[in-house]
Formats: sequence, structure tokens, C-alpha cells
Amino acid sequence: MRIRETRSKFLRLRCDDCENEQIVFDHATTTVRCNVCGRTLVEPRGGKAEIKSRVIEVLT
Ligand SMILES: [Zn+2]
Repeated sequence: MRIRETRSKFLRLRCDDCENEQIVFDHATTTVRCNVCGRTLVEPRGGKAEIKSRVIEVLT
């Protein structure tokens, strides 16, 4: 029996450019951009997404 360990989480990120805080899904399947300045915050990487900005809180 296989146990799935890839638990998905929500992360609170702070944009490096404009300090906007945004909640993102860490298994995002599409690129997530900052709502304020359009900077890329998360890029999909086939499964777990690559976080391109600062994580300030993990929401489980
Ligand atoms: Zn921004």
C-alpha cells in the first residue's frame, strides 16, 4: 500500500518587489503572479511548485 506524502499546503508569500502579501497553493499547476506588480511568485514544476518569493507563513 502506498501512502501519499505530498500533502498540499497554502503558503503566505511576500512579493520581493512590492511587499504585497498573497496566499498561494504550493502545488499550483499554473504560474501565480503578484496581484499588484505582476512579478512571478510561483511556477509549476510537475507536482510541487517552485516558490520564487519569500514564504512568511505556512498555512496547514
Ligand atoms: Zn509585487
